[in-house]
Amino acid sequence: MERDAAIRQEISTRRLADTDPLTGLLNRRAFLAQAIGRTAEQQLLVADIDHFKRINDAIGHDGGDEVLRVVSRTLRRAAPAGTLIARIGGEEFAILADSRAALNPEALLASLRMAAMPYGLKVTASIGSCIGPLATEADWQQLYHQTDAALFAAKHAGRDRVHWAEPSRNAA
Ligand code: GH3
Ligand code: MG
Ligand code: MG
Repeated sequence: MERDAAIRQEISTRRLADTDPLTGLLNRRAFLAQAIGRTAEQQLLVADIDHFKRINDAIGHDGGDEVLRVVSRTLRRAAPAGTLIARIGGEEFAILADSRAALNPEALLASLRMAAMPYGLKVTASIGSCIGPLATEADWQQLYHQTDAALFAAKHAGRDRVHWAEPSRNAA
């Protein structure tokens, strides 16, 4: 019985260590641990909330935190089971799926637009999307770099939209 309790304790400790406390999503470290080393080609989406600073200014930091929770819940509901979803930065989310079961980022943005936000705020996000190998750390650097550039382009083009990067090549 003591042994069972110890195992349960260890599982729950590990889960806590892998989880972002605000949103319940994977944290960056746990995401990378589960993402890097995949043998099949992957689709990476990076979603960043638009003008989040203004949201904080308008409804306060606690209100902003609630927006982060609603966005997280919305992403989790909109993405198929088995999709890795993580909060990898303050208001930046990574979503990873096998490219054979590629996600429709436009549909994710549509779900976010429809989500009920605190104070009836309208919240949008911009998304960069890229497909490529993710077998190694170098693959991750490359895939993330290209996805982030696509996200930057989506912001620059007016936000609340998706930009696709060219498929990433094997970095090895
Ligand atoms: P853009 O559309 O270009 O992404 O603009 P932005 O305002 O969303 O981006 P910027 O990077 O300028 O600001 C991000 C803000 O997110 C700044 C920071 O205070 C806020 N932020 C980061 N982490 C948290 C958090 O955990 N909770 C809250 N409430 N705010 C956070
Ligand atoms: Mg932002
Ligand atoms: Mg950001």
